[in-house]
Amino acid sequence: MRPVQRIGVLTSGGDAPGMNAAVRAVVRMAIYQGLDVVGIQRGYCGLLKKEFIPLNLRSVGDIIQRGGTILRTARCDEFKTESVLLKGVLCLQEQGIEGLVVIGGDGSFRGALELARHGVRVVGVPATIDNDLEGTDCSIGFDTALNNVVDAINKIRDTATSHERTFIIEVMGHSSGQIALNAGLAGGAESILIPEIPYNIDEIIFKLDRGISRGKLHSIIVVAEGAGSGLEIGEQIRQRTGHETRVTILGHLQRGGAPTAIDRLLASRMGARAVELIIDGESGKMVGIKARELVTVGFEEVLQQKRELDMNLYELAGILSV
Ligand code: ADP
Repeated sequence: MRPVQRIGVLTSGGDAPGMNAAVRAVVRMAIYQGLDVVGIQRGYCGLLKKEFIPLNLRSVGDIIQRGGTILRTARCDEFKTESVLLKGVLCLQEQGIEGLVVIGGDGSFRGALELARHGVRVVGVPATIDNDLEGTDCSIGFDTALNNVVDAINKIRDTATSHERTFIIEVMGHSSGQIALNAGLAGGAESILIPEIPYNIDEIIFKLDRGISRGKLHSIIVVAEGAGSGLEIGEQIRQRTGHETRVTILGHLQRGGAPTAIDRLLASRMGARAVELIIDGESGKMVGIKARELVTVGFEEVLQQKRELDMNLYELAGILSV
């Protein structure tokens, strides 16, 4: 096996806090191992447009604490076409890039798998606030997003208590209830609505009424965007109960800000391991974490299904939210 001399790194798909810490780890581990590193800007779009930048130890200084990604990110639909993908393979060859680290979510890994099938040595680092990737207990960005949401719930709770009102907080998660469930439980929400389980408005109202009859003066309902519209649910509750409701849509506030220590540690460990795997000749695989140990999982396995929601956690949230 020919030793690798130059590797590339890109961030792709939705940004996640901690991506910068991962880029830093890739660059510094690669240089430590005697490799050249090239940054590819704007994901697969940048690859096709040859947006390459040489990266050195200093290029990744002062970024470990910054959200977003210094390499920028993009969605690139045409990359799904075979002929375009082949152009991407050629662009890598032209630059002498023999190994590639892709930092992103499942979409990015579909692209990475195709590159691997065309002979590119490619390893993935999971970064998505949704934490819905199979093969890893945790993805980079989830812990920061979760803490952002819990922080917002704490603040909204102050007003909810003072004004004795029902607050609906809509959080990210088109097809995954991970953020809603974990933030709802950590934030002490009365009801948690997730895309995996269709909600029943009667049940929510029953819980609200039961709380009021027990002397509860306010209520927090966390809704994942894929479970329904916070505004519509708020209006339904107002019409049915006559109680005033207030709706907050957290939107992109959830994705921003300095990554937590947990995300920085995860990103540092995973980024460094990705480089080691490439040096060892591995390809078509993602670095994951299971029971606090780093593991390696094939892209096919990662992409076979979405990481399942922990139903025990959902049941526990129901029990504790009386
Ligand atoms: P995420 O990585 O956060 O899940 P997306 O689903 O938007 O983000 O995917 C990011 C990019 O990955 C897409 O814009 C596209 O360039 C690439 N991609 C997704 N699916 C494929 C595929 N089947 N083949 C090739 N590239 C893909």
